[in-house]
Formats: sequence, C-alpha cells, structure tokens
Amino acid sequence: MQPEITKFNDSVYQIDVLMEDKPGRMSCYYIDSSDPILIEVGPSNSFPYLVSALNSLGIENVNRSAITHLHLDHVGGIGHVVEKYKNHFVYIHELGLKHLPNPEKLWNAVAAIYTEDWLTENWGKIKPTPIENIKILNDGFNFDLGNNRKLSSIYSPGHAKHHFSFYDSLSKTIFMGDTLGLIYPHGDFVQPNLPPPDFNRDVLIKTLEDISKLELNYIGIAHFGIHENPYKLIDDAINSIDKWVNFVKDIPELSNQEAAKKLQEWVTQNYKALKIDNQTISNYMQNSNFEMQIWGLRNSSI
Ligand SMILES: [Zn+2]
Repeated sequence: MQPEITKFNDSVYQIDVLMEDKPGRMSCYYIDSSDPILIEVGPSNSFPYLVSALNSLGIENVNRSAITHLHLDHVGGIGHVVEKYKNHFVYIHELGLKHLPNPEKLWNAVAAIYTEDWLTENWGKIKPTPIENIKILNDGFNFDLGNNRKLSSIYSPGHAKHHFSFYDSLSKTIFMGDTLGLIYPHGDFVQPNLPPPDFNRDVLIKTLEDISKLELNYIGIAHFGIHENPYKLIDDAINSIDKWVNFVKDIPELSNQEAAKKLQEWVTQNYKALKIDNQTISNYMQNSNFEMQIWGLRNSSI
C-alpha cells in the first residue's frame, strides 16, 4: 500500500500515513516553503509510510516538526523521525520534554486503555527522543517558513491540556489536530472526540470560539484531512459537543459500558435521520471508541 498525498493551495501537502495499515485514518501535513515544516508524524508503525511519502515528494531531509499534542497516534513515531533526519527538532508542549526521552509512562498510560498487545501491533513501540532534539512550544510562537510566510502556534486545550493548533498565514489554514473532532470520508459534519483525562467542555468550546475568530479558508485535522467551510464546521462541532454532554448527563444510572452502547446507538440514529449514507456511518463507527468518550465525558467537570 502506498501513502496517498494530496496537494492543496500554497504548497500544503496532506499525507495519509496509513495508520493501522488503513487509509483515511491519520493525516500529517507538510508545508513546502524555503524553510519547510512537517505537522504531526503519526504513530511508530506509520513511520515507513511517512518516509516513503516524503521521498516521493523528493524530500530527503526534514529539519523540524510541529506536533499538536502528546497522544501516540500523533507523536509515536517521533523517535524514528529524529533518528533518520539530521538535526531534526520537534516542537511540542513542554510535557513532551518530560515524556519523549522516557516514553514508558506515556506508553503505560495508553496501554491501560488499549492493552499493550493492541498498541504494539497497531501503533508500534516508541523510540525515545534525545532531549536535545526537543523544543518547547509556547502560545503565539511563530515558525518562520521563509518567503514572508509564518506558522503560528495557538494553545488549544480542551481535547488535551497539551494541545496546540497551528495557523498558516498564507493559505489561511488552521491545523487543529484533534481539537475540532473527527471528519471521515465523506462526512461533512464533525463527530466530537472527548477523551479522558483532559476533556473539559468549557475549555474546549472557548478554544473553538477563539479559533473561529481567525481569518480561515481551510481546516486541517488529524482524523481526517483538509476541509472547506471552516466556520460551519466549528459551529457544528460546538453544537455536537453540547448535545453529547447533555445526552450523557441524562443517563447517570448507566454503567460506562451501557452508556457507551447507548451513545453509539443514539449517534447512529441521528446520522440515519440526517440521511447520511451507511458507508459514512460505518466509517465513523469503526473509528470511534465510545467507551473512551464516556470516560472523558464523565471525568470532565460537567
Ligand atoms: Zn488523534
């Protein structure tokens, strides 16, 4: 299987890194300029696909990457990236400084949810990143991409407290990682992504409202791809988050497992009522862990 690369305006490349050996699961981005940058690297198992995609674009070295947050589907492969590309620096929230050189704690936390076997097989073992290759991101940090182009970091908590979004001033694209939610082919609506331990409704809505004040042409998300109609999608995400919060608030008597089943049934019914085709609904269902959503929703300060 070959990773698919899609070129957008102003030399923004979307790279499908075939997460879990499946297309349409995880997008990384490469902004080509006189001083280019990679956004997200994907999990360890996607590293060969990432390299082959970059090779096919004629890119032999990448000096830096900006990571939206410290979840392993976004950053798991960084140890391999730093080893392969000379003088590569990874820009990430300061928690990365603590966890990337010694990834055991990160690994164990995720293994507790997904199991170690699942994690090893699907996302792959993490290689430690030398501390000297890690740079800390701050809100408002600007990457100079050359040619009068910059990429600005925007602190974006709510999905995770270590989350940043990146705004490209030239293409007017906001790269939002997991802050917006999930959009799978060929859905033109957003499904919330509200995992434990950090999901917080008020914080996430504030982040989304702040982002909607920017001048935007496109939204790039991790799961999956670049989308038009940014303001509609942000509104859609905000409405859906509140619907999910209220739905789960109304079923306190159910166990997490029962509540997850109910949430999934309700979301499916809603999609059917909206006349969304079965293929799209099944894309969303296969790529969603509803029990994790319940943990996130019940943990948060709602
Ligand atoms: Zn993710």
